Amino acid sequence: MLNLNRDVVVVGAGPSGVTAARELKKAGLTVTVLEARNRVGGRTWTDTVDGAMLEIGGQWVSPDQTALLELLDELKLDTYPRYREGESIYIGADGAPVRYTGDTFPVDPDIAVEMDRLVALLDGLAAEVGASAPWAHPKARELDRRVVGGMQQVSLLQARELGGDIVLNSPVRTVNWEPDADGGHCVTVECDRATVNARFVIMAVPPNLYSRVSFNPPLPRRQHQMHQHQSLGLVIKVHAVYSTPFWRNAGLSGTCFGADALVQEVYDNTNHADPRGTLVGFVSDEKADAVFELGADDRKRAILKSIAGYLGDEALAPEVYYESDWGSEEWTRGAYAASYDLGGLHRYGKDQLAPVGPIYWSSSDPAAEGYQHVDGAIRMGRITAARVAEVAKV
Ligand code: FAD
Repeated sequence: MLNLNRDVVVVGAGPSGVTAARELKKAGLTVTVLEARNRVGGRTWTDTVDGAMLEIGGQWVSPDQTALLELLDELKLDTYPRYREGESIYIGADGAPVRYTGDTFPVDPDIAVEMDRLVALLDGLAAEVGASAPWAHPKARELDRRVVGGMQQVSLLQARELGGDIVLNSPVRTVNWEPDADGGHCVTVECDRATVNARFVIMAVPPNLYSRVSFNPPLPRRQHQMHQHQSLGLVIKVHAVYSTPFWRNAGLSGTCFGADALVQEVYDNTNHADPRGTLVGFVSDEKADAVFELGADDRKRAILKSIAGYLGDEALAPEVYYESDWGSEEWTRGAYAASYDLGGLHRYGKDQLAPVGPIYWSSSDPAAEGYQHVDGAIRMGRITAARVAEVAKV
């Protein structure tokens, strides 16, 4: 059992937690990171399944994610673009796959006009509100690129610099805190493998998990209420690896959309310099609930049939098939990220990052820029570390 004295204890070694810890060390503070899982990276996880490297969690970087791009540069990690040559497939209400190029779905002209109007309206609203007033941030998927070797390296390489300051397999159950004689606080964070005494604690976990920890004294009414209004969605990220990217031979990019399809989005997710072809697809919300009612074989069959509806029967027999099931992961409980229920952001948003005594909050979920993305996790890690370092100096 470790008994440690530190300036700051960080709960969670996802990209936000490791970034915060690394920044705090740069600022001259001592840190311990306690991580529930047996690995760092949180919702980013690059693993090899049946010989295929898969991005089980977060993977894409878009050009506006400048904090992440800066960090990738610093960590000397390269990126490569998603394959997007050739035509895409759209399945509309009639169920027939239609080839198209460009960014606009091949829909009835009246619908296209209405979609363009809606997109312009949302873009206008988002620009008007701005990212730091956190009501809206459009998800820029269109120019996605990937990290050579996998997104988890953002955490792994930063964690390497933290060395023994990260303790794995250590779910934090209790955070005790009290004022000290100097106007600061004494914090004691307890888990099975360690007790860490510190001056500050950063909760670098998604907000739906705050209530897994007993805070002593309890959090104030506002936090108790606010935290109940944030939950994770449910998405199954499906990976299918084939001996070749067969769709490319047919002049297809692998990008497919179908509003009513079981797998609503499909992309070519072939790894850098890999001769095999990988498709990734997403099954969301009630559609995910429904397929989880099926047995594993029936679910696989239904999902592959849906992908074959876009790309043909060759899609039915991948060499490797894997479903990222983040809803079953105790230390995440859903995908992709936490958001407020209707009206929650307006009601609680202004207080979501307010510290409670020595307790600070850092994850991609309440981020402004980079909201719900690795970029937001990094920004939040940096912002929170700077706030703590500033107070620690006083
Ligand atoms: P997390 O990554 O969730 O890290 C939190 C850490 O805290 C975890 O390691 C967890 O084990 C640990 N923890 C929790 N509770 C405790 C406890 N009590 N004690 C100790 N440790 C605890 N983002 C993108 O930018 N691009 C994408 O393409 C993308 N795709 C995604 C696809 C999927 C399927 C998922 C699930 C996410 C995706 N995201 C994507 C989102 C991105 O992965 C997250 O926004 C990011 O990982 C959040 O980082 P974080 O550090 O805030 O939280």
